[in-house]
Amino acid sequence: MNFSFLPLADYMEPNNIENIEVAERKYLYSEKSKFFKNLIFTIPLIVFIILFVFFQKNYLNSFQNTLIGDRKIRDDRILGHFPYKETSFENLVEISPDILVHKNMYKSLLKMRDDAKKDGVYLVFLSGFRSIALQKEIFYSLKSIRSQIAIERARVSAPPGYSEHSTGFAIDIGDALNRETDFEVEFQNTNAFQWLKKNAAKYHFKLSFDKKQNSVDYEPWHWRYEGSIEALKIFEASNRKRLKL
Ligand SMILES: [Zn+2]
Repeated sequence: MNFSFLPLADYMEPNNIENIEVAERKYLYSEKSKFFKNLIFTIPLIVFIILFVFFQKNYLNSFQNTLIGDRKIRDDRILGHFPYKETSFENLVEISPDILVHKNMYKSLLKMRDDAKKDGVYLVFLSGFRSIALQKEIFYSLKSIRSQIAIERARVSAPPGYSEHSTGFAIDIGDALNRETDFEVEFQNTNAFQWLKKNAAKYHFKLSFDKKQNSVDYEPWHWRYEGSIEALKIFEASNRKRLKL
């Protein structure tokens, strides 16, 4: 028993130590390599996650901004009309009996009428500034007279607070020689309209409701002035929508 025990113990002891040492070296070596291997995979993964989160956040932000922007435009409009503030009375000038327009546009408007006259075309002003109170009267009284619901009426008249006429920068124009076409689509067949179509832009006037509009009916008689920064600011949302910005 003793004889066999001692050599066995002698034999096993160094062997055990050697085994442990080797095992320890192997263990350390493999741990180190695991660590580096992990590092090789982890660093690009972390970089990828950071970049992904960064771009995702930016993308989401711009996406949200687009949504907010669109919603803002959508929410601000009522039945296809943008909201407009009523200009103050001191900004208005009378250009013909009971027709007031913004002081920033009246010179341009009168020049346009005079130049048309030189070409043998007679423009007549039908409606300029309208207070929100008057617009309210027009919108609601005509709506009930014609038995129209708001959505139908809004195709031909803006709800109060949503009319370009309240800014003082809108003007309804007729042909003095064809008064039966006042406020009618047939106005487009008159010399006055043909002249305006060709020349109004020179005086900074633009047709507000052309045939491309789908929520508001075509109004060949309704023009708005865009010849000043103030006017451009007022009509910015409408122009942006048309430009699809
Ligand atoms: Zn009008």
